[in-house]
Parts: sequence; C-alpha cells; structure tokens
Amino acid sequence: MKHVIIIGGGIAGMQCACTLADRGIAATIIEKEADLGGKIRSWHVLFPTFTSADEVLSAVRRRLSQAENITIRTGCEATKLTAKRVTLSTGEELECDAVVIATGFTLFDARLKEEYGYGIYDNVVTSADLEHMFNKGEVRLSSGQTPRRIALLHCVGSRDEKVCQRHCSKVCCVTGVKQAIELKKMFPTADVFNFYMDIRMFGPGYEEMYREAQLMHNVHFVRGRISEVSPTIDGRLQIKAEDTLTGRPLKMGIDMLVLLIGMRSNDWNHSLEAECGLKCQPSGFMQPKDSFLGNVESNVEGIFYAGTITAPKNIGESINEGTAAALAAAEWISKQ
Ligand SMILES: Cc1cc2nc3c(=O)[nH]c(=O)nc-3n(C[C@H](O)[C@H](O)[C@H](O)COP(=O)(O)OP(=O)(O)OC[C@H]3O[C@@H](n4cnc5c(N)ncnc54)[C@H](O)[C@@H]3O)c2cc1C
Ligand code: SF4
Repeated sequence: MKHVIIIGGGIAGMQCACTLADRGIAATIIEKEADLGGKIRSWHVLFPTFTSADEVLSAVRRRLSQAENITIRTGCEATKLTAKRVTLSTGEELECDAVVIATGFTLFDARLKEEYGYGIYDNVVTSADLEHMFNKGEVRLSSGQTPRRIALLHCVGSRDEKVCQRHCSKVCCVTGVKQAIELKKMFPTADVFNFYMDIRMFGPGYEEMYREAQLMHNVHFVRGRISEVSPTIDGRLQIKAEDTLTGRPLKMGIDMLVLLIGMRSNDWNHSLEAECGLKCQPSGFMQPKDSFLGNVESNVEGIFYAGTITAPKNIGESINEGTAAALAAAEWISKQ
C-alpha cells in the first residue's frame, strides 16, 4: 500500500489524512504536540458563523477515527525530510512515497512591540489570550472586576517594517470584529473600540459581520494606530493615538487592551530551505510551485503543502488545501 507522511496535525493535516484514506492511501500524521488540532484547539467560537471551534474539530476527529490506515504519532517532531523519508528529532527515520508539510504558522510575540506594554502592564492581552478567557467563560481584569471600556488594536506584528513582518495576516481584522461582538454580548454596557489601519473583510459573511458590529452592537471603529500605552494611578491604561480620519490626536482611558496579533511563518521554514531544497518567500512562508496552478505543490517533486505553511489563511481555506494536497499527492504517486 502506498504511504504518505503528513507533517503537522492541525486542521489542514487532519483533513489531508482523511482524504488520503478515502483514496486508499495510508497516511501517517506526525504532530509535535501531545494532541491533534493545532491552533484551533485554543479558539472559542469561529468567525463568521460563531460555530464552536470544538464542534468543527470534533467532526474532523470523528472522521479520522473512523478512517482506516491512518497512523497518528503525537509528541513527535519532524526535523528533516526528502520526498521519500522523514527524520524525527529522536533520529528515527520513516520511509514513504510522498510528504505533505502542514506545519502551519506561529503567533507573533507581542512582547516585541514593547510600546504596547504586553507582559509589562496588567490588562494588556493578546487576541489568543482573549480566546482562552472566552473558553474559560471568564473575561476579567487583574483586579477581578469586569471591564467597562475595552480597546482592540489591529495589525500587531503585521504590516510592520520595524518587526520585519510586512505581510497582512488576513484573519486578524475579522477576528477583531468577532471578538468585539463577543465582548459586547458579554458586557452590553461596555464601550468597545477597534483601532485599525484598514478594515480587510475578505471572506463571505465578513463584511456583514462588520456592519452588524456597528449597527447592532454599537462597536466603535477608529481609524488610527495606538502609539503609546501607559498605566494610570487608578489602575487603568491610557492610550494615545491619532484619529487619521479627523486628523486629531486622541487620549483615552481604558480598562483592557487586546492586541490582535499576526500570523508569522515558523522558524523551521528556513531549515526547510537550507537543508531540504525547498523555497521560502521573503515573508518566511513557504513558496508554492505556482500561485495559480500549483499552490499545494512545492518546488521539489513529491513534497506538497497544505494550510498556513504558505500564507495566512482561514480555517475553510486550510481545510480545502488539506483536500487539494492529498489529491495532488495521490496523483503524483499514481504516476510513479
Ligand atoms: C487569534 C486567531 C483566531 C482565529 N480564529 C479563526 C476563526 O474564528 N475562523 C477561521 O476560519 N480561522 C481562524 N483563525 C485562523 C486559523 O487558526 C488557521 O486557519 C488554522 O489554524 C490553520 O491551520 P493549519 O493546520 O494550517 O496550522 P496550525 O493550526 O498552525 O497547525 C499546524 C500543526 O503543525 C504542528 N507542527 C509544526 N511544526 C511541526 C514539526 N516540525 N513536526 C511536527 N508537527 C509540527 C503544530 O504543532 C500544529 O499542531 C484564527 C487565527 C488566529 C491567529
Ligand atoms: S487582517 Fe487587518 S489587522 Fe490583520 S494585518 Fe491585515 S489589515 Fe492588519
């Protein structure tokens, strides 16, 4: 039986394994964490439908458990590969007929934007931290009180030359709108402000969510970037920004600041380039063979990509690429 190794057991890798199994090809998922699911394991409800992330993940897990000829190896990290062999951090070598790399992305480290005070001031959190709080059902200030005024800041670690992340992370605008709506549902009397450079609502239903946030939930949108955050003596935060639509500087006292952190490429991608002959883009994400006709293929025969390894994407796109990479690998194997 032909055999494909999938590196990365996030949503893209899981979907890829299910599609290969449907085609009668054995698949092994190599996942470095103790559990499958990738980043989605930490999310609460998903844009644009507010479906629980758990529900989506459970549906794919069920398909995986019912499929034949899928081997799952968690707690295993891949370090090196060719189209026919994957090396694990333990030194073990696994043979195969093709490889799909679905190792996803890394969350931007908000501490690198020191001016926003993440890890320095209380009540400065990231969008990923806020998802954890939603999951626990507890969005509270460090004092234990509920927040009355919250600001969400877009483009943290994206579109930013200073931290060498020039790309747009694509999903953080819509995440900011989704989180603002969730906050307003939780705290209807709170003031929620989104500070943005541009609002990028690229997907179906996203623009509608943005309108809903304004018209039904009274979320405020301010075009401007926060330049400085400082603590006040009464335990709040003061932010300084410029409203670039009116051209006026703005100072505001808030209780909580949410940094909408970007998706950056994994550091491992550079080893894939240096040691495995694969190509990276200037952003560090892997370079597909062709942006139109080969976006799940790599420049090396027999090695394929699925999901956010090549660029920021939403879950639907990552799942579709899991399917596409499996089909491309199956076709390639059949021609050998
Ligand atoms: C804050 C935030 C909220 C989001 N909310 C939504 C939403 O509501 N709706 C939506 O559509 N999208 C959302 N997204 C986007 C969504 O998270 C991604 O589309 C999705 O996680 C991509 O899946 P993936 O499988 O490509 O990558 P990942 O989820 O990153 O999975 C990759 C997997 O590969 C593993 N791995 C990495 N390197 C190795 C290695 N060397 N060996 C073995 N395993 C390895 C990792 O441990 C991980 O499990 C959000 C993103 C962010 C940042
Ligand atoms: S999606 Fe929005 S918040 Fe994210 S980087 Fe692009 S413009 Fe900025």
